[in-house]
Amino acid sequence: SAKGMGRNNYQAYVAVPEESHQQRIALEAKLRQAEKNGELRVYYQPQVSAQTEDIVGMEALIRWEHPELGMISPGFFIPLAEETGLIVSMGEWVLRTACRDARRWQQRFGLPLRIGVNLSPLQLMQPNLAELVRSVLEETGLEPSTLDLEVTESINVKSIPNLLETLQTLHDFGCHISIDDFGTGQSSLDYIKRFPADRIKIDQTFVRNIGVDPDDEAIVKATLSMAHNLSRAVIAEGVEIEQHLEFLRAHGCEELQGYLFSRPLAPTAFENMLAERERLLAAASGAAGMP
Ligand code: C2E
Ligand code: MG
Ligand code: MG
Ligand code: MG
Repeated sequence: SAKGMGRNNYQAYVAVPEESHQQRIALEAKLRQAEKNGELRVYYQPQVSAQTEDIVGMEALIRWEHPELGMISPGFFIPLAEETGLIVSMGEWVLRTACRDARRWQQRFGLPLRIGVNLSPLQLMQPNLAELVRSVLEETGLEPSTLDLEVTESINVKSIPNLLETLQTLHDFGCHISIDDFGTGQSSLDYIKRFPADRIKIDQTFVRNIGVDPDDEAIVKATLSMAHNLSRAVIAEGVEIEQHLEFLRAHGCEELQGYLFSRPLAPTAFENMLAERERLLAAASGAAGMP
């Protein structure tokens, strides 16, 4: 299904109708080609400090730029990539691309920018995942603590052999682990306790209803207090308006991500934004130093 397409994104994604079996096979072949033909893109969405609104990192979000269909949402092709196993090589490509871009921006701007990369259940099932991450870090020179691996809460922990061990190994390398889409899965509190996560990402379905639904506000507050009591930091996704920002800040949420700050951007646009921020900061400190 193409749930949430269009409203969720910058580009006007093509609405792909419920596929027939034949269409699915055709699309699968196109998706396979997409990788070979270089039609996949990584976009970056900034994550900011709730206190200062400084950029602290960015999330890598895959896009498929199809020559005829246009920009296709990951919400549509990630499930297909997951079912067909294509996600394993695609995910590896995203990881490598994101780490390389992050390292370049860290060096160019002298900022300890953190890069968030989504890991799908099938990637987490690969016995060599930790080895892969370690070699990508080595190859790109990225400091492990600036890599943040996002694992969705909706995964079925029991269906992934050695999940906690794999995450622990990655955590022991120094990588950060975030629980994505928090509040939408079925995970028990016990599982959250045992999960070696540094950060919880409050799902946008709750954030969206701040100022609208007191129940969702209560869930956001409860999540913040639980996370903080377990020494986890919290980032809210889907922050779209000032009211969301104010509520989250008032309740101690550390970081924010959403259209209020920026849409996901193509690498060049993201780099230009960092350059513009640097220029403004330099101008401000230059002006402050003038008589
Ligand atoms: P996610 O990891 O929860 O990513 C956040 C999604 O929320 C992104 O959608 C982002 O564009 C969108 N978003 C950000 N701010 C706002 C906002 O203020 N309002 C609204 N309405 N939406 C906002 P996107 O890029 O379409 O990605 C959808 C999902 O696809 C991601 O959800 C993630 O689960 C998956 N995905 C994306 N890239 C990758 C990838 O490289 N690997 C894997 N395995 N999954 C990916
Ligand atoms: Mg994510
Ligand atoms: Mg998320
Ligand atoms: Mg989400």
